[in-house]
Amino acid sequence: MTRKTKKVGSTGRFGPRYGSQLKKRFLKVENSMRATHKCPNCASPKVRRKSVGIWQCKKCYLSFAGGAWIPVTPSGRTAARTTLSLEEQRLEKSRK
Ligand SMILES: [Zn+2]
Repeated sequence: MTRKTKKVGSTGRFGPRYGSQLKKRFLKVENSMRATHKCPNCASPKVRRKSVGIWQCKKCYLSFAGGAWIPVTPSGRTAARTTLSLEEQRLEKSRK
């Protein structure tokens, strides 16, 4: 098979519209959205995007909330850390 598109990939469907730089950026996002990612539970590379922010592992069927285009975002990681420390504080308080 010969390649249909040399560099535009899946953004070829937009034709000449929307500008090359924008399509280049979109291509990166779309590729990571469609790719399989590593599962946080069983560590196998079987996680796929189900919907916006919903990811599911095809091996252990774990579904989890994550980023819209990638399973874990930097800000999501920060939020998780904050939640964890708040929870620890709460437990600490209830022990006293
Ligand atoms: Zn899994």
